[in-house]
Amino acid sequence: MRSYSLAAPAKINLYLEIIGDRPDGYHELAMVLQSIDLADKIELRSLSTDTIRLRCAHPQVPKDRTNLAYQAAALMAAEFPDSFAQFGGIEIIIDKRIPIAAGLAGGSTDAAAVLVGLDLLWQLGLTQSQLEELASQLGSDVPFCIAGGTAIATGRGEMLSPLPSVDNLFVVLGKYRHLDISTAWAYQTYRASFGNSYVTSKQDLKSRAAAVHSSSMVQAIIHEDPHQIGQRLHNDLERVVIPAYPQILQLKETFQQAGCLGAMMSGSGSTVFALCDSQKQAQLVQQQARDLAPSKELDLFLARFTSSGIQVLSSTRD
Ligand code: ATP
Repeated sequence: MRSYSLAAPAKINLYLEIIGDRPDGYHELAMVLQSIDLADKIELRSLSTDTIRLRCAHPQVPKDRTNLAYQAAALMAAEFPDSFAQFGGIEIIIDKRIPIAAGLAGGSTDAAAVLVGLDLLWQLGLTQSQLEELASQLGSDVPFCIAGGTAIATGRGEMLSPLPSVDNLFVVLGKYRHLDISTAWAYQTYRASFGNSYVTSKQDLKSRAAAVHSSSMVQAIIHEDPHQIGQRLHNDLERVVIPAYPQILQLKETFQQAGCLGAMMSGSGSTVFALCDSQKQAQLVQQQARDLAPSKELDLFLARFTSSGIQVLSSTRD
């Protein structure tokens, strides 16, 4: 029986704009997403039963059907019942390295890894767009996590346009260990606070979202200009998260004082990242942040931009 080991990288949002409400009840978004090399490791193998089993040593990760990786396996079993019957059940082992409920798409990237891994394990030969279509049924960030890299995401986040990869940029990620922010809460609070200024016509929603393609953030990426990227970081969700969680603003200010190119909350938080144009600068920012905010609760990680999404680390036949 074959097994696969896969790397599932986290993402950060370099840009996140909320345009309005879509007819399907989701928000219309305009985002620029970036993969980073902080990654979970996912092991996938067939079982000689007809069940889906999930193991993860991290106490906060659900091991049942609520786990997005479990849902990815269940979706594949439903879509490809012949393969599920032929290859048997599925065991998923998650080595969790991405902080949880942190705005880093930890659950989404695990789900993307299960889709990619089962495509290989069951020898389905799915295309990237078929995998992304399946991914969009699981969550808004899952399609991006398949191919990763640097991309514009519009719609709910599932309409992707790849951008040239930005090499040699680093981030320091800061997260207060017990500060978890619910994505659903952040978007609902945003709607309650700013819904009256939403774009409403279907036509305007699409054209406002499409404007991100010619935005100054995208220009900065195309021109490989780290300083402009640092200047153009933007996240609408800070408007509701910062008033409720002042630690987020303190952490941004700490990173800015430490001398990075720019600092921003990722997704719905609670991670704040500091953009740096060398590993040395990132190490200095990490050290300075440690000195300026000497809280035992603050976890700091150093990561690098990567052009990779889900990657096979190894495969074995036993
Ligand atoms: P996003 O950036 O996509 O909104 P996030 O990074 O903020 O996501 P996750 O780490 O995915 O958040 O965790 C959000 C919640 O999802 C957790 O509290 C957890 O209960 C649940 N969850 C489901 N599957 C997973 C998984 N594989 N890994 C981590 N959390 C998971």
